[in-house]
Amino acid sequence: MEHDTSSSPIAYKPLLAVIRRRRWYLWALIIVYMPASVLTLQLTQSYKATGLVLLIWLILLCTVVTLTAIAKCPRCGDNFHMRNSTLSYFRKCRHCGLHLCADKTVLPSEI
Ligand SMILES: [Zn+2]
Repeated sequence: MEHDTSSSPIAYKPLLAVIRRRRWYLWALIIVYMPASVLTLQLTQSYKATGLVLLIWLILLCTVVTLTAIAKCPRCGDNFHMRNSTLSYFRKCRHCGLHLCADKTVLPSEI
């Protein structure tokens, strides 16, 4: 008897891992900004260099926010964090409600 893996949370693991990784990039980028700008200002004593750090950070932030916004849900295929034009970082899909860690809480009967 063949088991249908398309509805199994195990089948969602690769795409959910991509979504989790992108979320980590976003939070890491947000956390890194303050120490990086203060360190740059202390080391260079230059607002121009600190502004350059801000510019680079903003470009990276826009890139990562876009990557998280267009991340597709493995179950429904829609954007995981985005519904219509609103973006939110809940841990469930905005369309089908799939949890971000659904692949980590698999019951033995679902394997
Ligand atoms: Zn979904």
